[in-house]
Amino acid sequence: MELFELTAHELHAKLDRKETSAEEIVRSVLGRISRVENSVSAFMTVNIDEAITKAKEIDEYIASGKKITPLTGIPIAIKDNMCTRGILTTASSKILRNYIPPYNATVVEKILQAGAIPIGKTNLDEFAMGSSTENSAYKVTKNPWNLGTVPGGSSGGSAACIAADEAILAFGSDTGGSIRQPASFCGVVGLKPTYGRVSRYGLIAFASSLDQIGPLTKDVTDAAIFLTSMAGHDPKDSTSVELPVPDYRRSLIDDVKNLKIGVIKELLGEGIGSSIKKSILEAAELLKKLGAKVEEVSMPTLKYGVATYYLLATAEASSNLERYDGVKYGHRSDEANDLLSMYYNTRREGFGPEVKRRIMLGTYALSAGYYDAYYLKAQKVRTLIKNDFDKAFSKFDCLISPTAPSIAFKIGEKTDDPLSMYLSDIATIPVNLAGIPAISIPCGFVNDLPVGLQIIGKAFSEEMLFRVAYTYEQNTEWHKRKPKLT
Ligand code: GLN
Repeated sequence: MELFELTAHELHAKLDRKETSAEEIVRSVLGRISRVENSVSAFMTVNIDEAITKAKEIDEYIASGKKITPLTGIPIAIKDNMCTRGILTTASSKILRNYIPPYNATVVEKILQAGAIPIGKTNLDEFAMGSSTENSAYKVTKNPWNLGTVPGGSSGGSAACIAADEAILAFGSDTGGSIRQPASFCGVVGLKPTYGRVSRYGLIAFASSLDQIGPLTKDVTDAAIFLTSMAGHDPKDSTSVELPVPDYRRSLIDDVKNLKIGVIKELLGEGIGSSIKKSILEAAELLKKLGAKVEEVSMPTLKYGVATYYLLATAEASSNLERYDGVKYGHRSDEANDLLSMYYNTRREGFGPEVKRRIMLGTYALSAGYYDAYYLKAQKVRTLIKNDFDKAFSKFDCLISPTAPSIAFKIGEKTDDPLSMYLSDIATIPVNLAGIPAISIPCGFVNDLPVGLQIIGKAFSEEMLFRVAYTYEQNTEWHKRKPKLT
């Protein structure tokens, strides 16, 4: 196997035994990028020179006998909605086409401290709004398993670069499914942590009560390692929680005996493809064989998830996106003769159609006369959904469902139909509304495209998710398959 094909824990073992160097690893990954990136288009920016320089520094550090961390020398891709000091950060929007942040997001700062090597910034749906990465103002990322299909979104670049072995680990962000759904489409592991588990400081805000940063990785072990290094309280994010961060590797236990697992009935019904349903039921059967107690659970409020989300997320987005006024950041229109026309033209030129649609929807939901009927009502339904999860967790240790209702769809298939695009997140959105964690892991193939299994846990039960996901992974082979890219 080539170095670029390995996981972070495998590379770490090699570095530890002095069988390779950070520079060799980085050159191997950069070589892979140069060969396949033309077909995949996962990256907005690749930091070739900086990565090699950093790798050389890391090798000197290792040679001096200093202690290495599990991330030392590991090339990491960063979704382009996370601020990187001195490196272009666009959120795949024209309005930030020239934005070079003067600071690092806390998660970026943390991986730098741990000796990791940022390899590049990945493509996304503009401001993370979308489910296919087709809303990027710059490029369409392809699914490495079938270049005619989408990688999912919004973290499509991050998921695709992991599937294509163009990075070892990648950061995603998840507001309504943007880590898990692309993980499912690209056959990789993606975890949305509990709200408050990971600092959002330096993440370009979409919907602040839902956004959470998390890992996209080649296997469950890497997800545990990566989450351990990014989690924790941050004084710069008042919504990050002051709870100790466990070493999540300790929860990688191949044993689900006597765990109670609920299969969510409503997420195997209408709108879910029959072949997807089959894969999920087979996964449930396997967990049962491995000793878990698996039962169906009904959660009647989940069907309101998508409608609730598109009121709350758009309301928050309309407020968060106020700041792009042509004065403080990025693009400013040349076509302006007074302040107001400068605002209008900057925003007209800078935002794409989906972002404009959301600003309109959100502003409407928040406006006087409609606030009670839409925004307030949606907040109440959000509580009902959370209550439904609380009730389920009083009986079950975790819940399972498909991550997405379908396999990766064709590029262009849903671009003219926003509602059908919104339904891509039917199974992931309720998790964000409830603020709880969920992981997506590969659980099968349909038409040679990956299927994802979603495992959902109560708040701060990431250890439970890792245990169940790890057990499933150890007893299946799906994660070992790789797309054929030449
Ligand atoms: N696809 C959903 C949306 O378009 C979720 C996006 C996300 O999680 N950032 O809003």
